[in-house]
Amino acid sequence: MRLLRILVTGGLLVAAASAGTTGYTVRKGDTLAQIAARLRVPVKDLAGANGIKNVDLILSGRVLKLPGATSTPATTGTVVGGNRVHVVRAGENLAGIAVKYNTTVRDLVTRNKIRNPNLVAAGVRLEVPGASWACPVRGHYTVVSNWAAPRPGGHTHEGNDIFAKRGALVVTPVSGVLRQVRGKIAGNAFYLAGDDGHTYYFAHLDKYLRGPGRVDAAATIGTVGNTGDAHVTPPHLHFELHPNNGRAVDPFPTLRRWC
Ligand SMILES: [Zn+2]
Repeated sequence: MRLLRILVTGGLLVAAASAGTTGYTVRKGDTLAQIAARLRVPVKDLAGANGIKNVDLILSGRVLKLPGATSTPATTGTVVGGNRVHVVRAGENLAGIAVKYNTTVRDLVTRNKIRNPNLVAAGVRLEVPGASWACPVRGHYTVVSNWAAPRPGGHTHEGNDIFAKRGALVVTPVSGVLRQVRGKIAGNAFYLAGDDGHTYYFAHLDKYLRGPGRVDAAATIGTVGNTGDAHVTPPHLHFELHPNNGRAVDPFPTLRRWC
């Protein structure tokens, strides 16, 4: 479902897309300590960011600011996707590739300025028409714009969290090569070296549905969960975007464009 659900009912997290800020809507019965634990921030920081003097008294319905969360408008920033890329494999020809993407040889030739359509070498990156970037979670989900939220040890959150029911399918935004990683913090995780030149990171998967190796775009690779240090939070996909294999950037503009 191509739907960015900004508001979450039931007192979960709220991402205000227009302002690029994040918050938490207090639910009846919530305590500040519980909320702080869920958001993985110290209670005093949460109280400080919201000018709360009495931590035992918070009103339901109030939207709490996350301490240290970016105030940079998420409307600006890197948006990846837009040009679907196919890396030619040995034995493939343009006719076969055109069929695969429901396009024509002529379109591929023009778009990629190919001189000899009968001679396309393996490893060549072709731009192909069509929708080019798949939202990494299928079905109902909630993208939370929580880039740069503080994390223990002086770290900041280097991605966005996409909340969904445990078992929701996680898919590759683009084609590329998957590498599995497992760790105490990441839980079950994947790196995807995208054919678009960018690296993607997916953490806290409940189950792997794919091993390492080459995958197509929109390939199912696992399910949403809360493995690793996410075990104290509701199931979500921790998602990172590393343009050109470099440092992570806020993936929210990209997620908002394609999810
Ligand atoms: Zn995360």
